[in-house]
Amino acid sequence: MQESSDKLQHRDWLRRSESLNIEGRLFINGSYVEAKSGARFESLNPATGEVLAAVARGGAADIDLAVASAKEAWRDGRWRFMAPRDRMNVLFRFADLIEQRSEDLALLDTLDMGKPITDSLTIDLPEVIVTFRYFAECIDKLEGLVTNSETNALHMIMKEPLGVVGAISPWNYPLLMAVWKVAPALAAGNCVVLKPSEKAPLSCLLLAELFMEVGGPAGVFNVVNGFGDEAGKALALHPDVAKITFTGSTEVGKQIMIYAGQSNMKRVALETGGKSPQIFMADIDDLDQAVDYAFAGIFDNAGQVCNAGSRLLVHQNIHDAFVESFAKRSQAVYQPGDPLDPDTTLGPVVTKEHQQNILRKIALGREEGAKIVFGGGAAETFEPGAYVKPTLFSGVENHMTLAREEIFGPVASVIPVKDEQGAIDIANDSPYGLAASVWTKDLKTAMRMVKNIEAGVIWVNCFGDGDMTQPFGGYKQSGNSRDKSMESLLGYTQSKSAWFKLE
Ligand code: NAD
Repeated sequence: MQESSDKLQHRDWLRRSESLNIEGRLFINGSYVEAKSGARFESLNPATGEVLAAVARGGAADIDLAVASAKEAWRDGRWRFMAPRDRMNVLFRFADLIEQRSEDLALLDTLDMGKPITDSLTIDLPEVIVTFRYFAECIDKLEGLVTNSETNALHMIMKEPLGVVGAISPWNYPLLMAVWKVAPALAAGNCVVLKPSEKAPLSCLLLAELFMEVGGPAGVFNVVNGFGDEAGKALALHPDVAKITFTGSTEVGKQIMIYAGQSNMKRVALETGGKSPQIFMADIDDLDQAVDYAFAGIFDNAGQVCNAGSRLLVHQNIHDAFVESFAKRSQAVYQPGDPLDPDTTLGPVVTKEHQQNILRKIALGREEGAKIVFGGGAAETFEPGAYVKPTLFSGVENHMTLAREEIFGPVASVIPVKDEQGAIDIANDSPYGLAASVWTKDLKTAMRMVKNIEAGVIWVNCFGDGDMTQPFGGYKQSGNSRDKSMESLLGYTQSKSAWFKLE
């Protein structure tokens, strides 16, 4: 039994991190195995720059092995033909065990990619658990249909799983983004090969081990770590993979579509990048409340969020008050700190290389004429950690790099807008369309904006709120699919029509 998390202090987390037993091998067919090549790569802790673990570097041969074991499990029906309530019970027990092991899983994600431990523990892990419970609950509600056909025939339409699902996940929510794929895929009866990000490869290994502990059959859930252009590419090209479900950058997402076309025309589900607008109209009731949502929407997880509200479209009548309140209130909340300190709200970004990318974009913002209101550099006191200070730019125009490219760091840009139509035009002037928010007290304005903004998720008078019933995914180059919700579950099924001639 673990100590209760509300008692764990900074020193307790430090102690735990020193004694943590980290597994780095691949997880294939129910056991840990080395990569066939014997190669390993280093996973670094971005808060300190120290080596955290040496992780097996899976390649095409390991993907072949994992897909073969998933295919075998698929063929003999050990999972898809399990009685629905039995499959549900495995996933419920899985969710319970994840809950019991929350602190270990949270600690792995925090050490691996720098997320504050309080966020791992109170945001990521509860969402992981509810994702498994939600999709487990759906299992025996997946119904087919008998159609109204001619009297001498019986026509049934059944929902069947696809087979072997390949999942490729990013590092920003290492466990949660993987689970948004793995949970519905398993619930629908598929077998899964997961390739986590090489920048945060650890927690998913423990996840696969826990699946076996609760009675999950071998071969049904496999984890192969490795690099994108090695293990990831091999999975996306594999002829025995029926669907590839991907979360990551738009650039790699496009490549995944090519791999599918080059191989077996497997189904492709993409959840990719974003440049979400947060729109603040002049009639907001409570500016401070809106500002609190605004900065959480860009500084949470150090801005490494696909739907990060990085473009602040603020009505010109409230612009100055908004910027002043944002600067004052956000700096009181978000300051760099040790991610293992439960009071920390802003950890490092994922790697030194990513820190340098963000700093380059900040420098470009200055060169293009935007003005830094606060922040704008590395947090030197935390060197060699990969920290970036929370940063606000004003005077941004929508054609500038700051407004067009996904920075994936704690960098917000304020763009003044004249009116509703101006806000809609700027919001839609982006290759992305993942999410948006609208702040107004006028329901008619809100509804017009909801209808006219090209985004898969729109929040009105909030940002980031939601639950498992909410389909999550993008318009345009933010993706072609949805995570969470029944819609996601159905994406891991296919329809079979069975026509019985009765006479
Ligand atoms: P990334 O595209 O670099 O990597 C994502 C995954 O793809 C990793 O596992 C990586 O190893 C793998 N990969 C890389 N090259 C590959 C290749 N050639 N073939 C197959 N696999 C390959 O993205 P990232 O840096 O890990 O994550 C950040 C990106 O993810 C951002 O663009 C962010 O917006 C996006 N994201 C989107 C959502 C969403 O729901 N839309 C959620 C989280 C993150």
